[in-house]
Amino acid sequence: MAERIKQYCEEMGATVEIDDAGERVGGNSGNVIARFPGTIPDAETIMMSAHMDTVVPGEGVKPIVEGDIIRSDGTTVLGGDDKSGCAVILETIRCLQEQNIPHTPIEAVFSICEEVGLLGAKMLDVSKLKARYGLVFDSDDPGFLFTKGPSANHFEFKIYGLESHAGVAPEQGISAIRIAAEAIAQMKLGRIDHETTANIGVIRGGEATNIITNYVYLKGEARSLNEDKLNAQTEHIVKTLQDTAAKYEVTVDGVTTRGRVESEVTREYYAMDVPESSRVVQLVYKAAARKGLKVEAVASGGGCDANIFNKKGIECANFGTGMRAIHTVKEWLDVKDMYASAEMTLEMLKLNGEMATQGRG
Ligand SMILES: [Zn+2]
Repeated sequence: MAERIKQYCEEMGATVEIDDAGERVGGNSGNVIARFPGTIPDAETIMMSAHMDTVVPGEGVKPIVEGDIIRSDGTTVLGGDDKSGCAVILETIRCLQEQNIPHTPIEAVFSICEEVGLLGAKMLDVSKLKARYGLVFDSDDPGFLFTKGPSANHFEFKIYGLESHAGVAPEQGISAIRIAAEAIAQMKLGRIDHETTANIGVIRGGEATNIITNYVYLKGEARSLNEDKLNAQTEHIVKTLQDTAAKYEVTVDGVTTRGRVESEVTREYYAMDVPESSRVVQLVYKAAARKGLKVEAVASGGGCDANIFNKKGIECANFGTGMRAIHTVKEWLDVKDMYASAEMTLEMLKLNGEMATQGRG
């Protein structure tokens, strides 16, 4: 994927670099950074970005085209998340060149490992980029521009009980499964409020029916557009587990054991909140108006590379490309949506060029 995109970009006159993010995360490619020169002297560079990876099962995709709809054959995802974003970027730059439209320099960033924790964006050295604003193409409906996104915490819990024979000496054991079950049953999970969500997504433990299980492993997450609410929800989950574990205690041969929990909370990403007045949002609004398209700025419950870029000082919003039912084998895409996305983007780049030219005059 990276080599193919590199080749396309070089054929279109870009200077292309593949950075060292792949080595740093144990992948087989780094981020592809393609620098397209502008045709307007001294104009500021704009960034366009999409991710090259997909979720699994994403290998050996056999796209089925029915009219304007592209779907997978049901054995894999389509991977429109986010190949459609890569396509929109390449096609709009190609159109700029073919139609000789005056434009600013463009830095196209094709990232790796978005789906496994925004790793490519996290590893990207933004000091290598000139752009300080731009667009990420990684959401569904091209009628929406995501300008707000949540902060997210990732949790890992190791719950320790005490092993014992379930038939012979159950009173000498502490079940880690029971601690986990009781704690999870008491937790506020799912949609907490309009800005906040929480989930326990992985539970592992137990060896046999005749053993009181002494270890259970949990993984989960919480997200919120509001930092205080995220902290409160995180505390609630950690405390519920710890309080539940502490209720369990047994003494065997004079040795007292208590249930206990090791908690690891890591910050997955920080919230993004791009104001309406920002350059990129205004550009999208004006471009959409000129094309007679309706684009509305909204909040997302998901995180994407844009969260990381904003945190690193590149002001950017996330624009839709037409991908639908993503992260499932039912994924599909309406080509009309992808056209609308590309047309709006082309208009935006054109407008950006016009503004840069006026600014110079
Ligand atoms: Zn994506």
